[in-house]
Amino acid sequence: MLNIGLDFHDTISYAPDFFINLIRVWKENNLGNIYIVTGTPPSKKHEVLADLEKIGLSEEDFKEILLGFEYEKDKMDLRHFKKMAKHKLKLLKKHNINIYFDDNPYYVQKMKDEGILTFQTMMSKDYLDMFEKADPFFTCNLQKEQFDYLDKLDNKKMCKKDDCKEIILGKPL
Ligand SMILES: [Mg+2]
Repeated sequence: MLNIGLDFHDTISYAPDFFINLIRVWKENNLGNIYIVTGTPPSKKHEVLADLEKIGLSEEDFKEILLGFEYEKDKMDLRHFKKMAKHKLKLLKKHNINIYFDDNPYYVQKMKDEGILTFQTMMSKDYLDMFEKADPFFTCNLQKEQFDYLDKLDNKKMCKKDDCKEIILGKPL
């Protein structure tokens, strides 16, 4: 069974058409179960259901909606994501979910080395800019810095062999 776990915020919500079709094809072909795996706490499940309804999905479209844990948003910091990564991993293992989609770098980093086929939803610059100021711990802000290392890369650091160094020497990127 190819059981799929889908994050909701900035994953299904970022590309609803894609995920609705994925869900449909998966179910029609009996390929496996589909779960929502969200960090939303159990007390706010109704919000997820309302958001699903807006894009034409309902609880019946999934095997189960797996929720996060209760937390206080005002006191939230980066430790929250590390804790949630462990929580989500536990849920994936418990439900034998071997394919996972999420936008959050903390979560995809955790899952990819655990034998779970992991896909990260990558949001456009425009989308990230739009939400940047809304909430500093809104998870899409984490993705904004994900590629900053590319600016610091240089050929000299990457090249291990001498002949490679000769080729790139003096050639700026
Ligand atoms: Mg998300």
